[in-house]
Amino acid sequence: MSEIARYQKQFYYTEKTKSVAFRKQQLQTLKNMIEKNEQRIMDSLNQDLNKSEFDSYTHEIGFLYAEINFMIKEVKEWMKPTKVKTPASHFGSKSYIHKEPYGTSLIIAPWNYPFQLALAPVIGAIAAGNTVVLKPSELTPTVSSLLKQMVEEAFDPAFFTVVEGAVKETQELLEQRFDIIFFTGSVPVGKIVMEKAAKHVTPVVLELGGKSPVIVDEDAKLDVAAKRIAWGKYTNAGQTCIAPDYLYVHRNVKPELLSKLKDSIEEMYGKEPMQNDAYTHIVNQKHFSRLSAYLDNGELVHGGQTNPEELIIEPTVLDHISWDDSIMKDEIFGPILPVLTFDSLDEVITQVQTQEKPLALYYFSEDEQKQQKILDQLPFGGGCMNDTLFHVANPHLPFGGVGPSGLGSYHGKASFDAFTHQKSVVHQTTKFDFSFRYPGSKLGLSIVKKLLR
Ligand code: NAD
Repeated sequence: MSEIARYQKQFYYTEKTKSVAFRKQQLQTLKNMIEKNEQRIMDSLNQDLNKSEFDSYTHEIGFLYAEINFMIKEVKEWMKPTKVKTPASHFGSKSYIHKEPYGTSLIIAPWNYPFQLALAPVIGAIAAGNTVVLKPSELTPTVSSLLKQMVEEAFDPAFFTVVEGAVKETQELLEQRFDIIFFTGSVPVGKIVMEKAAKHVTPVVLELGGKSPVIVDEDAKLDVAAKRIAWGKYTNAGQTCIAPDYLYVHRNVKPELLSKLKDSIEEMYGKEPMQNDAYTHIVNQKHFSRLSAYLDNGELVHGGQTNPEELIIEPTVLDHISWDDSIMKDEIFGPILPVLTFDSLDEVITQVQTQEKPLALYYFSEDEQKQQKILDQLPFGGGCMNDTLFHVANPHLPFGGVGPSGLGSYHGKASFDAFTHQKSVVHQTTKFDFSFRYPGSKLGLSIVKKLLR
């Protein structure tokens, strides 16, 4: 493993990864690999997280097919050098941005969508002409081992390989010299990755987390808001980086919204969600204990049951929460929704401005002026007006955080850009050579003054 970056670098310099034919062929190989193993992938997601086939297909497998198809269609166009304007001072020359792959890429993945979040960046890396070392999460071992087997069968390891392991193995990889590091995971580990990358000024993309609010105003359509919040929060048992972390609701509509939220939870997961096979479990005992400790915060208005043997926590709503409660201190990353109440939008804006810039933000209101106010005054990675999560699935929207919730973005063209260096080059003519540009020319300064004013 210690030589893996160097080994891939040698392959990179054979120039093979750079042609459009190679990139498309490898993307197709990736798609074939997934198609061939669909059932095994779903079984492994079920084994590690009790994911249902519906969730596995929609959020993991289907998402990747859409991303691969989009890349195969567009990559040739994106690879072309872009001609840009050239100022009069550069008369005779042309200017281009050449799309250069970074070279060798290291991709480090989390466990919550362990298949999709491992391979979505790989698609961008391949489309942009890089080699790939992928380090899946050790917390979803069945998926990690399947990824390794499948990639070994389908790809030349000099081009794309999987290294399994936990902290020690990841840190060993981070000691090696890659040309770009793409990390998805928690804020504290993101900081470690950035520190390691700083040693060689290696470019990084950091897809991190944080506390993402959902705000429901008094003029919101409550039926649809309740459904979309329940769906966004409890999908994958709340273990979604862009899940609404907490609900901020206008006092005038709170009782009605909470009642509709309970109905929506029951519609989606039944009256006995603990018995529902399609409801995702908590990833491990450590996270189960961490989440269970939040259940005594505020006042329980829905759910609250747990099953420690199976690591299940019911979709739960806690009312009368304040910023002093422990549940408001860190990202929850589980199926517990704390509820805060507000009387004016300005109050919400002031409060959210005191928090770290979130990865996502959702606002429910029919009033476009108030929507604009939220957009103008609150920084956040991305989000939706009158929905949750949906922005993540539009390949035309770059996906990422801002500040502590992340650095850089990906999906669709943004993935290609994330793994591409924009190499700016002036292509100069040699047919003539103006003497005024050089020191010693008598006319030089007066011409330069005319050109650069
Ligand atoms: P994590 O940071 O614990 O682990 C992520 C990866 O880093 C894993 O592969 C792990 O092996 C490795 N790692 C862990 N500790 C390390 C260390 N000390 N040194 C080097 N490597 C280390 O994150 P997680 O628990 O797997 O995922 C949950 C977090 O990820 C949440 O905060 C969530 O919001 C975030 N997340 C963000 C996105 C996004 O797209 N922005 C997506 C999913 C998850």
